[in-house]
Amino acid sequence: MVQESGKAAAPAAIAAGPSREEVMAVLAELEDAVADHIAWAQRWHRSAVCKLAPPRDVVSENAHYLCRFGAWLDLHQEDPIIGQNAFRTLDELHRTMHDNARWLAQRAWQDDRVPAEEYDALIDKINAFNSQVRRLEKAFRAALSDLDPLTGVRNRQTMMAELEREHERAVRTRQPCALVIADIDHFKQVNDRLGHRAGDRVLAEIAIFFQSHLRPYDSVFRYGGEEFLFCLPGTDSFQARPVIDRLRQNLSETTINLDDTRNVRLSCSFGVAAIERETSLATILEHADKALYAAKAGGRNRVMLWEDLAVGQAPRSASS
Ligand code: GH3
Ligand code: MG
Ligand code: MG
Repeated sequence: MVQESGKAAAPAAIAAGPSREEVMAVLAELEDAVADHIAWAQRWHRSAVCKLAPPRDVVSENAHYLCRFGAWLDLHQEDPIIGQNAFRTLDELHRTMHDNARWLAQRAWQDDRVPAEEYDALIDKINAFNSQVRRLEKAFRAALSDLDPLTGVRNRQTMMAELEREHERAVRTRQPCALVIADIDHFKQVNDRLGHRAGDRVLAEIAIFFQSHLRPYDSVFRYGGEEFLFCLPGTDSFQARPVIDRLRQNLSETTINLDDTRNVRLSCSFGVAAIERETSLATILEHADKALYAAKAGGRNRVMLWEDLAVGQAPRSASS
């Protein structure tokens, strides 16, 4: 399992939603934007009140781009997060705020007077910009608190709320939905041989692997220590089996590269149960857990369905 060798295959790239690091980077920009614009508004007031020539970052035609935040918005306009409507609104507010400020600062300097209603309009723009930044900050903080810090996938608390919603949706629409518990095989050995920190790295890489090998509308959660839960909407257990078995096989053939000399190869066992109308979520999770237990008992590195156990026939499992 733990190999000492040269370079190995690079870990799979993330295909799913924004990572924890990306969310944190956006949050940092939003926080800086508030501080930067407080200082910028002070410069505007200083020039208008003290009747000084307004500074360049206030009166330039390019004030929007001279501002660090405007430049950042412009640079990242193609990024999926920044491309969202809430950021487009913020971009618009930012431009009109800088345009208004430029125009009014010029007027204050040239005419020696600022009409009260135009000053009020500028303050309204500044307030609207700040409110939109704060709304976004709040939304990103909430998103961050839903993510498991180690692996970047959603945590167990979020999982339960989302599975309840999936359960209701599946019952209402009669659409199938498979739940899969994945448990890394012999993970304790990774910690024992390579240390807990390397174990943490491996968990993070495996979370990326799962996210990038499932469909964008499937969800991956950290269920427990070295256990993950997948929610596969529109998929029943029997449809889930070949999908999860391909994932299983793929993982068992993937080398996780820790550094130049240490690589890890791992396998995973999977228990699958489908959401059913009459069965509570707690019971469905128990079913998936029992299927997982059977996969472990059957030799690990395999996929077991609750249905395999429930019909009382000899367990059929997909395995290597
Ligand atoms: P099995 O094939 O039966 O699942 O064997 P296992 O060794 O994976 O299972 P066991 O339950 O014996 O051990 C799970 C290990 O996972 C023990 C625990 O230290 C480790 N673990 C759980 N959470 C974390 C974590 O956040 N970081 C690290 N590095 N290790 C963790
Ligand atoms: Mg476990
Ligand atoms: Mg395990």
